[in-house]
Amino acid sequence: MVYIERDEVGIYNPTYFSIDIIDDYFMMGGKKYILGQFIADVANLSAEYIKGLLRLTVRLFENYSEIQVAGGYVRDNFIKAKEQANEIINYLQDTAPFCYYNVDQVRELLEKYFCSSSYERYDSLETTEDISLLDDANQLLKSVCYIGNDIANFNHVIINFTEFIMMGNSRKKDSLAIDAFTFFSSEKYMQFFEQANAIPFMAGVNLRPWVTQVPVALPDFETDSVAIARRLYFTRFMDFLITELFEALSRGHYIWKCGVCGKYFLMTTAHNQLYCSTVNEEYGVPCTNIARNRRKVKLEYKPESRKDTPQYILRKKRLNSVRKNKSLGKYSDAVSAEAKKIIDRNYERAQFDFDYSEKEYEADMNLKKIYEEAIKNVDARI
Ligand SMILES: [Zn+2]
Repeated sequence: MVYIERDEVGIYNPTYFSIDIIDDYFMMGGKKYILGQFIADVANLSAEYIKGLLRLTVRLFENYSEIQVAGGYVRDNFIKAKEQANEIINYLQDTAPFCYYNVDQVRELLEKYFCSSSYERYDSLETTEDISLLDDANQLLKSVCYIGNDIANFNHVIINFTEFIMMGNSRKKDSLAIDAFTFFSSEKYMQFFEQANAIPFMAGVNLRPWVTQVPVALPDFETDSVAIARRLYFTRFMDFLITELFEALSRGHYIWKCGVCGKYFLMTTAHNQLYCSTVNEEYGVPCTNIARNRRKVKLEYKPESRKDTPQYILRKKRLNSVRKNKSLGKYSDAVSAEAKKIIDRNYERAQFDFDYSEKEYEADMNLKKIYEEAIKNVDARI
């Protein structure tokens, strides 16, 4: 008899995991995520990162294939496979969306299936337990291989699909549905994904996910009672990501590409937001601020008059003071160079961050404050 599940936190090992879908979000590993979040994370993985992941995966897959040809067990190949699988897990563990998973569970399973006492059991295969242990070991290797293949393939899908909906400016539920239908029933796109399969001989993009669904009873803290939810189990990322994509789309959640930094961000409304609100690495302010300010700069200042702005005049004044103090021998070369860098940094930021320019720029350009920071930075380097 199977009873209703009541474990508050489901399993969240990246080779086998469950999510609980509730309204617009899902729970995994005791944490709450908006539907579509992991998709955005996969879209944001760089080509370089995915290439590195595939390189490691292909090596494990070749080894795994040799093992299959030899009947499912070769001790030397198993020893190598354990190393290769651990390398993949180390590569993944700090990057989103993998960092939301319990990767230590994979490490523990690798320890269990790939150790000398298990190898002895595989050598003899005396009991049915030995056989099922060996099956599980092979299944684990295959699952680790599929992480690389599925992520590379899905990254392809989501980037192309996002371009497609951006082209039609589809942001409402109904237009997203029409676009999803058009895109995923297009022979052109689907054949392209089939041919672009990251690792030959592995299953590629698949719109028919393998999902096991069970009811789950979870504590509802708001009403101090029990809530019933859907718990979905997955053994492959492709199955999960396709499920998440369509669950997200059916709620009007979609991915958009930021016009400033080029990163993908999740939208949960049909608003015409064109820029992400995460902090831009280059400028230290959200892209929305940069975009707003770029528009303002375009409208209000002509490029040739940029040198007359109060921000520019203040920068010039401070740079002159630093030069003068340096020639007088008041500050070392290193401190003077650092002070110049700080002045330029503040000025740069004032060009793009309207709020900063209005509220903080002048105070940050106080000469005493600049030297204090410069000395501190130089001291820190020694
Ligand atoms: Zn951005």
